[in-house]
Amino acid sequence: MKVLVVGSGGREHTIVWKLSQSTRVDQIFCAPGNAGIQSLAECVDIKATDIEGLVAFAKENSIDLTIIGMDDPLMLGVVNVFEKEGLKVFGPTKEAAIIEGSKAFSKDLMKKYNIPTAGYEVFTDADEAIEYLKSSTYPVVLKADGLALGKGVLICESYEEALEGINTIMVDKKFGDAGDKLVIEEFMTGREVSVLAFCDGDHIIPMTSAQDHKRAKDNDEGLNTGGMGTFSPSPFYTDKVHEFCEKHIYQASIDAMKSEGRPFTGILFVGLMLTPEGPKVLEYNARFGDPEAQVVLPRMENDLVDVVEACIEGRLNEIELKFTDDAAVCVVLASDGYPLNYDKGFEIKGLDWFDTQENYHCFHAGTANKDGKIVTNGGRVLGVVAKGEDLKTARKNAYKAVENVSFDNKYYRSDIGKSIE
Ligand code: AMP
Repeated sequence: MKVLVVGSGGREHTIVWKLSQSTRVDQIFCAPGNAGIQSLAECVDIKATDIEGLVAFAKENSIDLTIIGMDDPLMLGVVNVFEKEGLKVFGPTKEAAIIEGSKAFSKDLMKKYNIPTAGYEVFTDADEAIEYLKSSTYPVVLKADGLALGKGVLICESYEEALEGINTIMVDKKFGDAGDKLVIEEFMTGREVSVLAFCDGDHIIPMTSAQDHKRAKDNDEGLNTGGMGTFSPSPFYTDKVHEFCEKHIYQASIDAMKSEGRPFTGILFVGLMLTPEGPKVLEYNARFGDPEAQVVLPRMENDLVDVVEACIEGRLNEIELKFTDDAAVCVVLASDGYPLNYDKGFEIKGLDWFDTQENYHCFHAGTANKDGKIVTNGGRVLGVVAKGEDLKTARKNAYKAVENVSFDNKYYRSDIGKSIE
């Protein structure tokens, strides 16, 4: 088979690596890919949002299967166009991807179908939102409706802070059109767990759990980022929590989308908050999480192509997902200064070490090839992943592996997975 992966981050490197393990895959292409992906796939210079370019490439090169890693092309309807052209593609249609693209849509969906989530109101008028805030209980959570690179969520401790937040989102339009609508949500407390699930429109099978670390600095301090590290499984995602989610969240979400005439095929990412009243949905995403994919896919025993095809063909119920009994930890190596300003272009050394190791991976995110050398080219540079018989061992192994990689301005959190010890 010839497979095309769309995207350029650590998530796509992980998907490409997983495909490279498949006996069914002969050739992998990635658009646009990155310097790490180049060692496993042929990178083609087509932007992930250039839908016409992607379709033309898939046709010219007789691509058998395309996997969309990133959110942007999904919202633009890449799956609709591929399907119309008769090309096999994995991901939700534009109509289904709205579950991530609009927070107001996903909140209304959960309310209508009794899926547990925080209480909320939706506003399109700043004055009405301000009026509502006068009688709110604090802290309160403000969310820009649309995609805002994970930055459109503000937790406000007081009325004054919330007022500033409304100005940022609705008046100054810091997140552009994403701020045309605003969701004001009740603040929840508890542990956060991410569960990614394969879906075929009718059936849903959750993968093993993972936990992300969003803040830039140790002890969950500093600014929110795209993710500074993950581990899998989460010890807080117990059998009891799983049973509850099976009963009230996973199938209910897929059934709800089908009832709305928006059947969901692809990866549904369910962000959960384990509150004192039970698990509640924080958010949905319509694709693999990054860096959650980096710890979940290396633990998956199935051939990814088998599962993806079953999703596309509506026979996911025939699949039994299997995960290894061990644990995995991913430590993100970033450029110092991320998520604000940082320098790039520094040579990265020590990557060869990973080529000889079975239980270690170094997935590239912001890297580039310059004069035959791999250099830093973004905020999040690499995801160093290690497995181990348990989380503690995986964590020790990951931090040992981190020492093998060097580049100027290398920065990482030292406490990924520490909370579980
Ligand atoms: P979201 O993009 O909706 O997942 O929000 C990003 C982050 O904001 C989450 O991972 C949580 O840490 C936090 N957050 C979002 N909604 C709430 C809420 N209702 N209560 C507490 N924290 C929240």
